[in-house]
Amino acid sequence: MSLNQTRSEDTVDTNTEREAPAAQAAVPVLQARNIKKVYGKGSEAKTAVEDVSFEVAKGEFVCIVGPSGGGKTTLLRILSGLMPATEGEALFEGAAVRSVPDRVSIVFQDYSRSLFPWLRVNKNVELPLRVKKVPRVERAKRAQEVIEAVGLAGSERRYPWQLSGGMQQRVAIARALAHRPDLLLMDEPFASVDAQTRFELEDMILRVRDEFDVTVVLITHDIDEAVYLADRIVVLSTSPSTVRELVTVPLTNPREQAATRNDPEFASLRTRLLGLVTR
Ligand code: ADP
Ligand code: MG
Repeated sequence: MSLNQTRSEDTVDTNTEREAPAAQAAVPVLQARNIKKVYGKGSEAKTAVEDVSFEVAKGEFVCIVGPSGGGKTTLLRILSGLMPATEGEALFEGAAVRSVPDRVSIVFQDYSRSLFPWLRVNKNVELPLRVKKVPRVERAKRAQEVIEAVGLAGSERRYPWQLSGGMQQRVAIARALAHRPDLLLMDEPFASVDAQTRFELEDMILRVRDEFDVTVVLITHDIDEAVYLADRIVVLSTSPSTVRELVTVPLTNPREQAATRNDPEFASLRTRLLGLVTR
């Protein structure tokens, strides 16, 4: 990867006075470089993503917001290594993404299809640790830790079908966190639950992000959700998507549903984003 090499040489050149860890911290966790995706060929060809570039620094919470059908899921599949781009590339911690990196976890909108109905909550959560051959006792300990972090203590022995939709999505998030990823990629994770549950899940993911020190990229079509959660927002255009604007959210942390949503900054930002998304 010539681009890649150029980049790391640049980093070394400009940081010769600094210690190694500082130089490493400067590499973005995720980079999207001129990503384009065309589905199909010839007269059937359909461009879903036109040209998307942005970077995510370690520890950031970035929301990608855009209209339905705008190419958000397409973009997430490319960023996570589930699908190649037609042009451009995604980089995770400086290396080109060719398959899902070990330190990346994905949470999808459809929790009902991401959990195994015949496995209890704790066994669903332990699954990625089993795949990685983590010893049994350690597996159980780590699963318990993330189950508690997502607010599911007491439900360890239940089956997914005994849980509400919101609780099932908590299980999927616990499983995604079990092996302590550096980056959590989420595709409209709260779009299929009722409004009250969505608020609870939003607050849970903010807490979990602090507790596990994980970088989060969350895709949503919901502008209010993006403003509430994000440190920074990537605003996508209608299909085929380009980046309309990168917006830094000026709200204070920690966020709090009533207070944050009543903040005049919240209202002015959502109005601005609405104009950008629908333009
Ligand atoms: P979003 O997640 O923003 O709703 P998608 O990425 O799912 O958008 O879809 C973007 C566009 O690409 C849509 O027009 C959709 O029909 C099209 N598309 C998505 N997946 C495929 C596919 N596998 N083959 C052909 N077209 C697709
Ligand atoms: Mg989608």
